Amino acid sequence: MAATHDVIIIGLGGMGSAAAHHLAARGLGVLGLERYGPAHNRGSSHGGSRIIRQAYFEDPAYVPLLLRSYELFEKLERDTGRRIATLCGGTMIGNSGSRVFAGSLRSARQWDLPYEVLDAAEVRRRFPTLTPAEDEWALYEQRAGLVRPEATVAAHIQLALGAGADLRFEEPAVRWEVLEGGRGVRVYTADEVHTAEHLVVCPGAWAPELLADVGVPFTVERQIMYWFHPHGGTGPFDPERQPVYVWEDAEGTQIYGFPAIEGPEGGAKVAFFRKGSVCTPQTIDRTVHDEEVAAMAAQLRPRIPRLPGRLRKAVTCMYTTTPDEHFVLARHPVHPDAVTVACGFSGHGFKFVPVVGEIVADLVQDGTTGHPITLFDPRRRSAAPAAAEEHALEETAR
Ligand SMILES: Cc1cc2nc3c(=O)[nH]c(=O)nc-3n(C[C@H](O)[C@H](O)[C@H](O)COP(=O)(O)OP(=O)(O)OC[C@H]3O[C@@H](n4cnc5c(N)ncnc54)[C@H](O)[C@@H]3O)c2cc1C
Repeated sequence: MAATHDVIIIGLGGMGSAAAHHLAARGLGVLGLERYGPAHNRGSSHGGSRIIRQAYFEDPAYVPLLLRSYELFEKLERDTGRRIATLCGGTMIGNSGSRVFAGSLRSARQWDLPYEVLDAAEVRRRFPTLTPAEDEWALYEQRAGLVRPEATVAAHIQLALGAGADLRFEEPAVRWEVLEGGRGVRVYTADEVHTAEHLVVCPGAWAPELLADVGVPFTVERQIMYWFHPHGGTGPFDPERQPVYVWEDAEGTQIYGFPAIEGPEGGAKVAFFRKGSVCTPQTIDRTVHDEEVAAMAAQLRPRIPRLPGRLRKAVTCMYTTTPDEHFVLARHPVHPDAVTVACGFSGHGFKFVPVVGEIVADLVQDGTTGHPITLFDPRRRSAAPAAAEEHALEETAR
């Protein structure tokens, strides 16, 4: 049997690598197990950019976590010398009743965040690539922008290794169990059995298989990121001029996009927010089809006339979604003394990666945290299977 550790972490993607850093920095003996290589492209944390913003239409309860996340992203850049964030500003566009515009405004007002409200003409004047309709509005947030997911994961891995963590790649955990009496865990890989006082499970899209008993029905969704070479070149999409955007149409469909951050050849990245098809990590179709590119092109043409231009590449990614689209971040409800879970990030988790690492470390050490995480309790009613059924019925009734 291998040596005993203080903590074993399953999954070293966005959340697991951040947890490894925070736990190792607090002096705990960490063993990390990852199915693939460092900062790989087969989970949920790849594709060069993720939107980061503070006026949070999903729920204002996320705002204090975002404020802490911003501080920790800055510290991560300082501690590793890596370039992670580009705060190029962000526009949240929709009509006056849309979730994206009205929800962002509500959140900004509630937390007294700096913002501007722009009408359609003002958006066109300040950001000429964007052509909203007359009845659309934008909440502009200067502190919004993007973070680089692969650089974030690599930075957390670097710091965790520097603090003495034992991180093993290409080494999937096959299964885990809690020792008799509920304290301590055993984790099996193909060749070894590891024991530890505590287990952290951050498996991204593998949550349905590794966390079946957490009591939340997860749906894994296939998502597509598109990079287009704009008509007339990437100049107008330079991050000095082009903000990130989330744009909701009158039917509630949301797209989001980025400036061209990879130079003239890189293209500008866009994607639908949600609207994915159900898959598993084993069944996901990694090929992007012509009709999918056409659907994105149709959504872009009236809104960003310099796009689509020419497709440069399209890459798939997975969301792991809970019924109410809020995270699962807590001690495991069935094994509260031995296991902490961080999963179900529902397509909007990356901007929280560093603060999730800090919260996981708090939960492992103390069983509790000073950060506000009641929204992420796996036992909340809106995350229960029954709530999922009600939701499905509502959808059918519509
Ligand atoms: C297309 C797309 C766009 C997105 N855009 C944004 C955005 O703009 N802003 C934002 O905030 N969020 C965004 N997100 C969401 C965000 O990226 C995710 O919430 C976040 O990356 C999830 O991190 P994770 O650690 O849960 O998953 P991952 O990073 O996938 O990590 C899970 C890890 O667990 C490993 N693993 C699984 N099972 C095992 C096992 N048995 N043994 C060992 N290792 C295992 C996997 O290999 C993987 O590395 C986006 C996601 C996608 C897919």
